[in-house]
Amino acid sequence: MYLRFFDPWKSKLCSCPSKYSLNPYTGCAHGCIYCYASSYIKNFFNCRTKPNLLEDLKRQIKKIPKDSLISLSNTSDPYPPIEKELKITRECLKIFREFEMRVLIITKSDIVLRDIDLLKEMKSAVTLTITSLKCYQELEPYAPSPFLRLNTLEKLSHEGIKTGLRLDPIILGINDIEIDKILILAKERGVKHIIASTFKPRWDSWKRFSRVFPEIAEKFENLYFKEGLKISNSWYLPEYLRKRLILKIRQRCDELGLSFSSCREGFPELNNSLSCDGSHLIGDRKV
Ligand code: SF4
Repeated sequence: MYLRFFDPWKSKLCSCPSKYSLNPYTGCAHGCIYCYASSYIKNFFNCRTKPNLLEDLKRQIKKIPKDSLISLSNTSDPYPPIEKELKITRECLKIFREFEMRVLIITKSDIVLRDIDLLKEMKSAVTLTITSLKCYQELEPYAPSPFLRLNTLEKLSHEGIKTGLRLDPIILGINDIEIDKILILAKERGVKHIIASTFKPRWDSWKRFSRVFPEIAEKFENLYFKEGLKISNSWYLPEYLRKRLILKIRQRCDELGLSFSSCREGFPELNNSLSCDGSHLIGDRKV
């Protein structure tokens, strides 16, 4: 069963609408140092295919109601470099189109542009993650650059596909000072909605982070591991700090006329959109 009901560890902090999740690939080649999926999926940065994925999906899709929301993907990127050649995500999209599902894409890759033809024929929206314009090579060594992602947002918006930006994760001392600039650039490229989430390290992502940014890690270690709180194997910054950060972004989004939500922070009162994951962007369009 590759298409699964989305229920992230039954987290009380998750306010996502009811939806299904599909990861067309196991693992992810982007190698983000902050990635949490590497803590529970073996050999995570070796991106590989799933046996009989399309056959399995064709069987499963008949069992869920038409117009269901499908999130693609939550624990990997649906557009790793091998997708260019294999076109597995593209085949999944064709199945979703045939069965009239609503699809929310979450990616860091410009390969999504190849599928504009399909996305235009479906109820769909695309969110791209941008964390930093300065430290992206250290943070996301093998992912397409944030500038390519900004171009991707622009092209998608230009084609009439609703787009959102994920500022995820926000890392103190690294990208918190870049947020304003990223928001302005996103707005200029037609983005409608912003999703923000703070860094919630697990042990392995913290190890990677500390190797790459030893001084910043040392500076903020106590904030996470002594003053913060642990929820489901992730360490959170203290609530007052996260709230201050999230509120600041919400206010800036208000000024820029962008809708806003935060992801798994526990401040739903700061959201001003119909969904926290950007799925409200999915319109009724389907030709
Ligand atoms: S793109 Fe997402 S799934 Fe892939 S390595 Fe980065 S954080 Fe992990």
